[in-house]
Amino acid sequence: MPLDIVRVPVLSDNYAWLVHDTESGETVAIDPGEAGPVLAAAADRGWRIDHVWTTHWHPDHTGGNAAIKAQGATITGPGAEATKIPTLDVRVGEGDSVSLGAHVARVMTVPGHTQGHIAFHFADDAVIFTGDTLFAMGCGRLFEGTPADMFANMQRYAALPDETAVFCGHEYTQSNGRYALVAEPDNAAIARRMIDVDAARARGEATVPTTIALEKATNPFLRATSAAQLGDYRAAKDAFKG
Ligand code: ZN
Ligand code: FE
Repeated sequence: MPLDIVRVPVLSDNYAWLVHDTESGETVAIDPGEAGPVLAAAADRGWRIDHVWTTHWHPDHTGGNAAIKAQGATITGPGAEATKIPTLDVRVGEGDSVSLGAHVARVMTVPGHTQGHIAFHFADDAVIFTGDTLFAMGCGRLFEGTPADMFANMQRYAALPDETAVFCGHEYTQSNGRYALVAEPDNAAIARRMIDVDAARARGEATVPTTIALEKATNPFLRATSAAQLGDYRAAKDAFKG
């Protein structure tokens, strides 16, 4: 049975995700930046949140942990950031597996945005949760790492199957796309995608999830051919007023 995945907008532009396995009835909340909307979205569906999976310590991804834990959930996240995630129950890192019923997600350590940042890859379901590392047409800011760190992450993401659905932590696509048009002015796929993105945002619709195939065609950070090029793009995007 496929996983049932629900997008829950929280804070100003964050996405928390509810993932539900219909066979076992288990539900995980990924990166609940606040508890209220996530608990409500679960309750609407008659789901109880058994697990919280945290990609990194930033408060816009962990702000809801304590309240959801108080309702009985177990909190799993990066062991390398345990001191910054006081709610953490289960510490994981590269190569570990976490499960939701019979569905298994492999943990990838993908540093750079934060030093212990992790992603959750359900290979059999062709689904990955990338937090603040891979975004639609962008990547996370390098608060605790280097362009080489993020370049290595992007190489790993680019090696995933094209059809892999990418669920990230923010609705940044339109802003990222405006910069992508500048970074790669001759890339027609970016220009075409931006027509769709602008239309979706004008209708108030989300642009996430994306896919590895779409990012390989339109994401300058995933398409960068060196750490130096990724670093140049990252610095330019940080200063970009699009
Ligand atoms: Zn973050
Ligand atoms: Fe964030």
